[in-house]
Amino acid sequence: AKAQGRNRFQFYNHQLDREQLERVELENALFHALKHEEFELYYQPQVDIKTGLIDGAEALIRWNRPDHGMVSPGSFIPLAEECGLIGDIGDWVLEQACAQMHHWQQNGIHLRVSVNLSALQLEDPDFCEHVADCLQRYGLEPDQLELELTESILMKHVDQTTSLLSQLDAMGVHLSIDDFGTGYSSLSYLKRFPLDKLKIDQSFVREISVDQDDAVICRTIISMAENLNLKVTAEGVEEAQQLALLAEFGCHQYQGYLFSKPLPASELLALYQQQQRE
Ligand code: C2E
Ligand code: CA
Ligand code: CA
Ligand code: CA
Repeated sequence: AKAQGRNRFQFYNHQLDREQLERVELENALFHALKHEEFELYYQPQVDIKTGLIDGAEALIRWNRPDHGMVSPGSFIPLAEECGLIGDIGDWVLEQACAQMHHWQQNGIHLRVSVNLSALQLEDPDFCEHVADCLQRYGLEPDQLELELTESILMKHVDQTTSLLSQLDAMGVHLSIDDFGTGYSSLSYLKRFPLDKLKIDQSFVREISVDQDDAVICRTIISMAENLNLKVTAEGVEEAQQLALLAEFGCHQYQGYLFSKPLPASELLALYQQQQRE
């Protein structure tokens, strides 16, 4: 029995080493990716529900990892957050999104782009200056940029965040709450922070046409937002029936596979131009 116990210990130990090794490997690969431009931003159209026209896009990072194909952010953003690389990756995302808007603007296209933020980025005391500098270098109006924050990011350092978001708002940058309804935070922050938009999490949209509770939650979020003068975007819309209900409830905007998956910049542009011609 003793020997067996010992073996078991060695087995677990071995597993642990392996996991740690994989982690270190992934971290190194992320460093390398940043240096060698293996990241790319995809853009998912945000569609005005009343007109059916694209009126913005969310930037979503992809990693074109050699020998691995396109890697989705769920499998590397959490590690990038833990090892601190998210600061540099976040800077790259902001820079890239602004460069893209600049490029579109030169072709006469004004699309607002939303960028996802991590908690660590808000801890940088120069974050606001950094955003202002980036917008200025690319000749962009601040209201062309939207920053998406989750409830947990907002609740992390409330006082610090309050003043940072006030600064961004005063500049004219738009602020939205991502995955709205999934956090454990109180609603008091809707009053506290200068927000422009709530994004209804896709978990409420998924069964909106079959689950009465989800329908009630969506309708309630939309009417609350209306009363607070906030815009609402529904995420993860995959079916026409879901869209019809959201329209009935007065939702402003949607994103989802029903209209389009996230696309490389050139494909989003083509889709936008096609709509302009129709
Ligand atoms: P998110 O911000 O909630 O982004 C929405 C996710 O839902 C995206 O996954 C998108 O591809 C997916 N999606 C869009 N429409 C549909 C649909 O109709 N059905 C379904 N099932 N899914 C849909 P993605 O691109 O894999 O991103 C996952 C998460 O990674 C994002 O969730 C966001 O939290 C994070 N992320 C992505 N890009 C960045 C970034 O540049 N910086 C940071 N900090 N996080 C990022
Ligand atoms: Ca988002
Ligand atoms: Ca504002
Ligand atoms: Ca979301």
